[in-house]
Amino acid sequence: MDGSRTWRIHLLGGLLAMGVYVLLPYGIARDALYAAVGLAGAAASFLAAVRLRGAVGLAWALMGLGLLGASTGDLMWLYYDHIAGLDPFPSLADVFYLLQYPFVTAALLLLSRHRRTPGDRGARLDSAIVTAGLLLPYWVLLIEPNIGGHDSTFGQVVALGYPLADVVLLAGLVRLLAVGGARTPSFQLITLAMLSLLSGDVIFTSTVGAEISGLPLGDLPFLMSYVLWGAAALHPSAGDLLRTSPDGAPVFTTRRLLTLMAVVLLAPGTMAAQLLAGFEPSAWPVTVTSALLFVLVVARMALLLHRLQEQARMLDEVARTDMLTGLPNRRTLDAQLAREYERADGDGTPLCLAMIDLDRFKQFNDAHGHQAGDLLLSGAATAWSLALGGRDMLARYGGEEFVLVMPGRDLRDAERLLASLRVVTPQGQTFSAGLALWDGRERPSDLLHRADLALYAAKEAGRDRVVRAAGSRPGPSPSSTRA
Ligand code: GH3
Ligand code: MG
Ligand code: MG
Repeated sequence: MDGSRTWRIHLLGGLLAMGVYVLLPYGIARDALYAAVGLAGAAASFLAAVRLRGAVGLAWALMGLGLLGASTGDLMWLYYDHIAGLDPFPSLADVFYLLQYPFVTAALLLLSRHRRTPGDRGARLDSAIVTAGLLLPYWVLLIEPNIGGHDSTFGQVVALGYPLADVVLLAGLVRLLAVGGARTPSFQLITLAMLSLLSGDVIFTSTVGAEISGLPLGDLPFLMSYVLWGAAALHPSAGDLLRTSPDGAPVFTTRRLLTLMAVVLLAPGTMAAQLLAGFEPSAWPVTVTSALLFVLVVARMALLLHRLQEQARMLDEVARTDMLTGLPNRRTLDAQLAREYERADGDGTPLCLAMIDLDRFKQFNDAHGHQAGDLLLSGAATAWSLALGGRDMLARYGGEEFVLVMPGRDLRDAERLLASLRVVTPQGQTFSAGLALWDGRERPSDLLHRADLALYAAKEAGRDRVVRAAGSRPGPSPSSTRA
């Protein structure tokens, strides 16, 4: 039988068994059915462990051991209740029941470890916030009332063991849900199984026994968790439990934000509920939890802020860089040119600008293809950049046109630099350039325009040469030109 059917049969059979369980009268048959459902869940998990092996197999083996522990506890109860005629508390059955939690929690941690996105510190903080927030009402309602009132230390430890084990399991589950990862059907069934187990424990601890209106309804969440666990183990997606989410780290969604807000509000909410109901407020637990939550929320905000700043920095970098060549783009050129104007104006040093254009680049593209053309563009950008001085700036102006800003160089010096670029241009390609010296007054657009006109002249004159722009007189520095 293929897996797509067995899990359904297990689920339906389990639901049917739950119905029968409720209708059966108190007796050995009813408890035997209960234990059988648990053992079926354990068997299905061990089957998955053997079938899948590896880390995911180990997770199923741990969950199988947990279910086996709980089912052994059930069988022991059956013995105490129906064969030995005892109602012991605490007993060895409790030890087996409690054994379920470390095994299942270990499985949860194993899953979280594999499913998490590396470096996602937000998930860790989120799970800490949720766990801390949920812990308070849990403490107030279930743990605090269970402290004291037991004859033996063993009794006290066991009585506190259940809610404390729940807290650990809850923390593991929250962590697992916070790290993201693929939400396959098997994963969702396991999540539901654990929520079922936890709600069973809450009902069991907060009511006197499992009987509600004369029916064993309080046992149903435990049975449900056994059934869901078995179905999850038999589901075809049982092997994908470790799969990470294709979307990478979970984004900070509105749902996540609302969940965190609701959880943080549990602290004042618990206190308000106590005051309204006329109970003595749990001042210290509320104070400690609130302080912890404040610190965690601020840490979460700091993390988000840091990520936001990092993204802004990266966006800024992308906006200022030409993607093909890695050179500064036109936007950066404009900003840098304005800065160089100020500097040249301030210290009176010359400022030269060249407009560079590869010769017959269209022909190169036509002959070798666009990709080869791209490689030539980025190769030329790299080779030229390596030949520049510390203050020179090469930017991609557009297409196969570049602008070279040369602060502190006069025309002759600039020509020498351009000659050195010519030598290193890859694949024997040539370029033409128009060279202009800032006259100390003209706007950047005028300087560029003069260089562009000179470039046209260089092309006209036969390419593979540098032509000085009209109005670029060598000699005196810009400041003295103005004088
Ligand atoms: P000239 O010597 O007169 O400058 O001739 P040219 O062929 O270099 O100039 P033209 O303006 O006729 O053609 C420029 C070519 O540059 C056309 C266009 O396909 C190519 N080009 C522009 N940007 C890119 C690019 O990013 N990658 C590639 N591969 N080609 C580009
Ligand atoms: Mg060209
Ligand atoms: Mg061109």
